[in-house]
Amino acid sequence: MKPVCIVIISILFLTHCAPNQDIQPFEQTRVMMDTFVQISIYDQNRTSEELKSISESAFKQIETIESITNDYDDSSAISLINRQAGERAVALDRVMLDLIQASDKINQISGGAFDITLGSVKQLWSFAHENPRIPGDALLQQQLENVGHHHFIIEDGAIQFILPGVRLDLGAIAKGYAIDTAIEVLKENGISNAMVNAGGDLRTICSDLTKGKRRVWIKNPRRPEAFLGFFRMDEGSVATSGDYERFFIYESERYHHILDPKTGKPARGCVSVTLQAATATEADALATAVFVLGPDRGMELVNSLPGVEAIIVFERDGKLDWSVSTGLKKKFKKIN
Ligand code: ADP
Ligand code: MG
Repeated sequence: MKPVCIVIISILFLTHCAPNQDIQPFEQTRVMMDTFVQISIYDQNRTSEELKSISESAFKQIETIESITNDYDDSSAISLINRQAGERAVALDRVMLDLIQASDKINQISGGAFDITLGSVKQLWSFAHENPRIPGDALLQQQLENVGHHHFIIEDGAIQFILPGVRLDLGAIAKGYAIDTAIEVLKENGISNAMVNAGGDLRTICSDLTKGKRRVWIKNPRRPEAFLGFFRMDEGSVATSGDYERFFIYESERYHHILDPKTGKPARGCVSVTLQAATATEADALATAVFVLGPDRGMELVNSLPGVEAIIVFERDGKLDWSVSTGLKKKFKKIN
C-alpha cells in the first residue's frame, strides 16, 4: 500500500436508493488506505451529531488497521515482522493473527494463487506510470524462492520465517478486513443499516429502510463511463480486482499489480473480477485469487464455494467478454 498516490478507478459502484425521498444517509468520506473510504448510515432514530460520532469511531478503526498493515510505514506491525521474523519469532497482535490466518485459508482454497509471501517479489516491481520497472527473470527466480506459505510458521501467537528473505504483503486483504471491522464498530453502536465503501470494495448491512433498493453496478473496465450491468444486493460484501487499477504499458504489454505466485509476473487471463461474499475480507482476497486463477479455473473455484459469486471480465480474440457465476446468473441484469 502506497500512502500518497490515490487510486479510485473501480468497476464497482453502489447506488444509494433511499426507499422514500425523506430518508437520506448520513455520509462521510475520507482518504484512507490509498483510496476514498465512504461510510453511509441510514438511521431515523439518532441525531446527526450521534451518527457523526459513530461514523468517526468506524473511521478510527480503519485508521488502526491501516497503521498495522501499512508496509510503507517503518513503525507498522507488518514492517516490524518483515524486518525481524527472518531471525526470530515475532509476537502477533490480534489483527495480524486474524489477517494471516484468513490469508492462509484463501491460500489453501486457491491452490496457492493467493499468497501473502509475494512481498519480496512485489518489491522488484514498480507499477507507477512515471517510473515503471520490469525485473529481469534471474532476479524474479531468486525472489520466488521466498514465496510460499510453507516459508513461515505460526506458534504460540508468534510468527517466524523459515527463510530470511521472506516478506509479507497484505495489500490484497487488508482493505477488506478494515471494512469488516468498521462494520463491526457500526453494529456495536446499534447501527443496522450502513455501507462502508473503500474505493469500490464494500460491505453493506441492511434493515427494512433500504430492502430491495441497493444495486451493485459493474463498470466496463475498458470504458469507465459505461456499465456492463448490475445486480441487487441488500447485505453482503463485494470487491474488485482489475488489471487497470495500477499498471503501465510497455511494448504493447500491460503490466499490472496482481502477481502470479508461480511466475512473479502479472497474472494473465482476467481483466477484472468482481466478487461477492459474506465478508469483505473474503471478497477482497478471493477477488485477487480468482483473478490469478484466470476465467476458467477462477469460475470453477467461485462456483464451488457456497455464498460466493463473481463476474469475471476477460478478453478473448481482442474482444471483451464476461462470465457470471451460477448463483448470479438470474440476478445479473445486463445493460445492452
Ligand atoms: P486493490 O488493492 O487494487 O484493491 P487487490 O485487492 O487485487 O487490488 O490487491 C492487489 C495487491 O495485492 C497488490 O498490490 C499486491 O500488494 C498484492 N498481491 C498481488 N498479487 C497477489 C497475490 N497473488 N496474492 C496475494 N496478494 C497479492
Ligand atoms: Mg484483493
